[in-house]
Amino acid sequence: MAGSVIHFWCHPCRQDHPLISEKRYVNSVIGNAWVSRCPTCDKTLYRLRDEMAGQDPYFRLSKYMRAQVRRNADYLVQPGDPRFNILYPQHAKDKNRQEDLAERKTFEDIQSRY
Ligand SMILES: [Zn+2]
Repeated sequence: MAGSVIHFWCHPCRQDHPLISEKRYVNSVIGNAWVSRCPTCDKTLYRLRDEMAGQDPYFRLSKYMRAQVRRNADYLVQPGDPRFNILYPQHAKDKNRQEDLAERKTFEDIQSRY
C-alpha cells in the first residue's frame, strides 16, 4: 500500500519523522522496504519489511519507539518493583497507610492480652 504515513528515524538529524512513504524494492539484501526522504536533510530513509523487520534499526534508534517501549514497560510494572511506587504514588501512600493500620492493630492486640 503506497502513501501510508509511518515513522522514520533519521540518524544524521537524530529525529523521528512521521512521513508519507512508499513500498519499494530496494535491493536483494533489503528486499522490499518503506522508503521516504528526511524533510530536514533529504537523506533517503528506509523501514525494513517482512522477514527483515526484526533487523530494522528503527526499533533500536528511534526516540519515539523507545518512548513507546518504555511506556509499555510501565504497564508491566508490578507491586514490589521499586518503580511501582514512583509510577503509582497514591497507591504507595494507601499501601503504607494500610500497613500502619495493620501494625497498630497488631500492637493493640498484643497489648490487650496483658
Ligand atoms: Zn535528516
